[in-house]
Order: sequence, then structure tokens, then C-alpha cells
Amino acid sequence: RVSTKPPPEPSPLRRAKFFQANMRVLVTGGAGFIGSHLVDKLMQNEKNEVIVVDNYFTGSKDNLRQWIGHPRFELIRHDVTEPLFVEVDRIYHLACPASPIFYKYNPVKTIKTNVVGTLNMLGLAKRVGARILLTSTSEVYGDPLVHPQTEDYWGNVNPIGVRSCYDEGKRVAETLMYDYHRLHGVEIRIARIFNTYGPRMNLDDGRVVSNFLAQAIRDEPLTVQLPGTQTRSFCYVSEMVDGLTRLMEGDHIGPINIGNPGEFTMLELAETVKEMINPKVKITTVENTPDDPRQRKPDITKAKELLGWEPKIKLNGGIPLMEEDFRKRLGISRK
Ligand code: NAD
Ligand code: UDP
Ligand code: UDP
Repeated sequence: RVSTKPPPEPSPLRRAKFFQANMRVLVTGGAGFIGSHLVDKLMQNEKNEVIVVDNYFTGSKDNLRQWIGHPRFELIRHDVTEPLFVEVDRIYHLACPASPIFYKYNPVKTIKTNVVGTLNMLGLAKRVGARILLTSTSEVYGDPLVHPQTEDYWGNVNPIGVRSCYDEGKRVAETLMYDYHRLHGVEIRIARIFNTYGPRMNLDDGRVVSNFLAQAIRDEPLTVQLPGTQTRSFCYVSEMVDGLTRLMEGDHIGPINIGNPGEFTMLELAETVKEMINPKVKITTVENTPDDPRQRKPDITKAKELLGWEPKIKLNGGIPLMEEDFRKRLGISRK
């Protein structure tokens, strides 16, 4: 006799087996701004099992709340300056504070995170045969004397300044990546990320887009740091994450610049935010911090040719996408 009873619901563990994940992906710094958007993208692929390690210095579990409890997702509180033993196929190594006020807060810890943290992740990659991608930065070009910046430019970095813990830390991290590749055959990928913005940026982390947006919403003056003619080029986070996954799964080691070449002075950025968010808000100028790069714009020829990647979202398209998230978190709706 055939039973008419429905089969029992599979346990979460059993359900997980049904997914047959065939790629285990580690994301260090996955509770942060870019990391959590990367996790969203990786989790959309049912073939991926995602492990995040983060010490929550600048990130938060809240950024990952939609995945907590998911059978293909695991979150580990861990500091990458300590050894880590997991079995994975891919390592996206993002762990490192990215905002100047946070990375300057404890510069020695920032260097340790970049150097010891990257060494540990390379030791892990070597042991398990994983491919590892480092999120390096446009800051390796320092205050650039070549404009726009191409990957073969060696940069103009102050080795003893207050930003050096980050800039030089990332430069050593890139060196370690190449030495593990040459010496041990580790499969590496290096992305040089340019300024990125979008939802989930820390509200008060001092970065310019998040600062101006929060100020405009709170109806506080936008603080343009002098001289205001310094430039940056801003990439929307979903396009950044797309570039990172293309680099990881492509055939090119890098370094490859990933960023949006649309270049703005900080005064222009303030005007744009004012116009879009709060036309009555004031713009004021304030003192700058030492060693602030005067200009920055990626040459993305390599990303276009080797990854088929090119950003399409302009600043005036990306800012409204960020506004809703900021208003929700600030508890201030549009009048
Ligand atoms: P973020 O500060 O939001 O994220 C960094 C994450 O790393 C956080 O979750 C933090 O808690 C974690 N972390 C820091 N130190 C750690 C440690 N020792 N052990 C474990 N976790 C640690 O920054 P983001 O903007 O998401 O940047 C991510 C990566 O991209 C960083 O490597 C950064 O250098 C690089 N990058 C970002 C930008 C940008 O504009 N956002 C530009 C260039 C490069
Ligand atoms: N490491 C790690 N996880 C691993 C393998 C290594 O965290 O699965 C760390 C290890 O503790 C060491 C670093 O990675 O500090 C570099 O490892 P490697 O084997 O290259 O060098 P060694 O241990 O010989 O110094
Ligand atoms: N900046 C500004 N007002 C702010 C914060 C930053 O004018 O409230 C300027 C800062 O001087 C720099 C640029 O914006 O020239 C980008 O700074 P951010 O800290 O966002 O990133 P990074 O310097 O790392 O590119």
C-alpha cells in the first residue's frame, strides 16, 4: 500500500546537502561594507557555500542578517592576524579597515592586519590549494604623479606619514601575494580598488560620500576639506563587487584597477549631493588632513580588456540608491 503521508520536512542540514555546494568561498572582512555586498552576490549562486571571518572592528553582523542561519552560510568571529584553519576553494581577502579615521585609529594594528593577516591567508591558500584575491587599493599610488593611474605606475607614497600604515601595508600585502605566487605557486588575484560608495557604508566613518550624504540628510553643512579642488572617482558598490568576482574567476593575476573613471573635485561632489538631497543645505570648508592625495582617477583599460568590466552607474545615479538606506538608518524621511 502506498502511504499518502507527505514526507517529513528535511532538516536544515539535509537541505544544505541538496544544494550540493561545490565551491567553498571564504570572505575575510565579509561583515564590512564591500564584503557584505560581495557575500550577497556569492550567496545568490546556489553552488557556493560562503564562510565569513570578521573581527567586527568596522563591520557588523547587521550587514549579514539576511544570511545568518542560512544552510550555505557561516559566520566566524576571528581576527586575521591569528592563524585560521578552514578548508576552502576561494579566498576573498578584504579584512582591513578602509576609512582613514578608522585605519589611523590604531596604525600598528592596521599594519598587522595588512601584513600578518595577508601572510596567514596566503599560508592558508598554500595549504589547501585555494585561489586568493586581495583587495588592494588606489592608495598604493599615494599622491600620484601620473594621471590617470595605470597599473604599471609605482606610486608616490610617503613611508612615514599618518596614512602609511594603510598605503604601505597594502603595498607589502601585494608583495607577499606575488612572492607566494612565485615561490609556492599559489594562485593569486590582486584588485586595486578605487573609492567605492553605496548602502551600508558606516554613517560616521569620515569618508566623503557617506559624510556628505549624512550631513545633507541631517541638514548640517557639508564639510569640504581644503582646498576642495582635490579629485576622486567613485564606483557604485554593486559594480565593484561584479568586478571582483570577474577578476577572481578570470585568468589574469593583476594587479588590475577596479573603479569608476568619472572624476570629481570635492566641491563638485558637495554641489551634486546638495542638489540631489537637500538644495538648502550649506557647504563649508574645513582643514584637511596630512598627505591627502590631490588627484585620483583609474585607468581601467586592463579591466575592460581582460575582464570585460566597465562601470555604468554614474554618481547621480548611485547617490539616490544610497539615500534610502541612509534615511532609514538615520530615521529621517524626505520632507
Ligand atoms: P570596511 O571597513 O567596511 O570593511 C572591512 C572589514 O574588515 C570590516 O568588517 C572589519 O570589521 C574587518 N576587519 C578589519 N580588521 C580585521 C581583522 N584584523 N580581522 C578580521 N576582520 C577585520 O571597509 P570596506 O570599504 O568594505 O573595504 C573592504 C576592503 O576593500 C578593504 O581591504 C579595503 O582596504 C579595500 N578598499 C576599499 C575601498 C573603498 O572605497 N571602500 C577603496 C580601496 C580599497
Ligand atoms: N597559516 C594559517 N592557516 C593555514 C596555514 C598557515 O593561518 O591553514 C598561517 C601560519 O600560521 C603562518 C602563515 O600562515 O603564520 C604562513 O604560513 P606558511 O606555511 O606559508 O609559513 P610558515 O608556517 O612556514 O611560516
Ligand atoms: N573629504 C572632504 N570632506 C569630508 C571627508 C573627506 O572633503 O567630510 C575629502 C578628503 O579630503 C579627500 C576626499 O574627500 O580629499 C576623499 O576622502 P575619503 O576619506 O573619502 O577617501 P580617501 O582619502 O581614502 O580617498
